[in-house]
Amino acid sequence: MRHKERPPSPSIDDLPQGQTLARYTAARLGGQADYLYIAKDPSYRDLMPLLDQAWARGMPVTVIGGGANILIADAGIRGLTIINRAAEISHEDEGDEAFVTASSGTNLIRLARYCQENGLSGMEWAIAVPGTIGGAVVNNAGAHGGDIASTMTRALIFEAGQGERWHGAEELDYAYRHSLLKGRADQRFFVMRAQFKLRPDDPHWIQARMERNNDYRRRTQPPGASLGSIFKNPPGDYAGRLIEAAGLKGLRVGSVQVSPIHANFFVNMHAEASARDYYELIRLVRDRVDAAFGIRLELEIQTLGEWD
Ligand SMILES: Cc1cc2nc3c(=O)[nH]c(=O)nc-3n(C[C@H](O)[C@H](O)[C@H](O)COP(=O)(O)OP(=O)(O)OC[C@H]3O[C@@H](n4cnc5c(N)ncnc54)[C@H](O)[C@@H]3O)c2cc1C
Repeated sequence: MRHKERPPSPSIDDLPQGQTLARYTAARLGGQADYLYIAKDPSYRDLMPLLDQAWARGMPVTVIGGGANILIADAGIRGLTIINRAAEISHEDEGDEAFVTASSGTNLIRLARYCQENGLSGMEWAIAVPGTIGGAVVNNAGAHGGDIASTMTRALIFEAGQGERWHGAEELDYAYRHSLLKGRADQRFFVMRAQFKLRPDDPHWIQARMERNNDYRRRTQPPGASLGSIFKNPPGDYAGRLIEAAGLKGLRVGSVQVSPIHANFFVNMHAEASARDYYELIRLVRDRVDAAFGIRLELEIQTLGEWD
């Protein structure tokens, strides 16, 4: 029997150039990528040689998952940009525990739903957190008292010059919305998969807890194009409370507004808004909160591309 031959891995020079990235981000903002690759195969067999090519050439690499935590400059991103859409989930039962493994392009909400459908408890916190597993592993995404650090056992990471290796969660230095990976600006690594430890439970109870989390979000967070919380909560306080107390709810730059519903959410109200407007609003809010309370808020989102 003849085996179907795999087509050769793509070369960076054959990739589409000048593609607009706004559609790949939750804020619907950002310029073009020099070179764009959309990963769809959860084995990442095509992606790994591409990453090696870029790293060997010294070309900058940017990985975008759901684009739910990044603000891309209007001038776009230099080098190779990867959009990670490779989704795959499986699980194995081991006595009183279950181990769920998902490829990094899997949507976090899809993973939470999978766990509910299979009667596995532990991911209820994730039911309304946008983005992919890759972004969540890097950011230590969390909500409703849970986070990646408390549910993930290990992550498979591909690194420049080192190939792929499983890293235990304890190696990633997790803290509130922080990991060792988030601190690394070089992007000479790619999170491929993550494994989570869950416990069997009745799907109806899991569903009830998820609905409670969803209800809370619907009541407290604005709809529309945003990046979720812009600033981290400072110790012992809330960024949203400080922004509101500084009288900044509803403040606008162009068509980007500090949400009147939740002051730590900045909403892009019209398609014609620019990333520059979003960035200016961030600067303005940070300066005014600093002037009012002497607290310099720290960004939770990440800015990509060049800003002056
Ligand atoms: C409406 C809204 C509500 C939100 N609520 C919450 C919340 O409750 N809790 C919370 O924690 N966050 C929240 N966020 C923020 C966001 O959902 C999380 O930060 C999420 O984990 C981002 O995942 P992503 O795939 O979109 O990552 P992206 O924004 O695409 O990327 C984030 C970072 O991860 C890197 N990255 C992504 N994938 C990989 C990979 N495979 N390998 C290497 N690096 C990678 C990127 O390069 C970038 O540095 C919210 C956002 C929105 C828009």
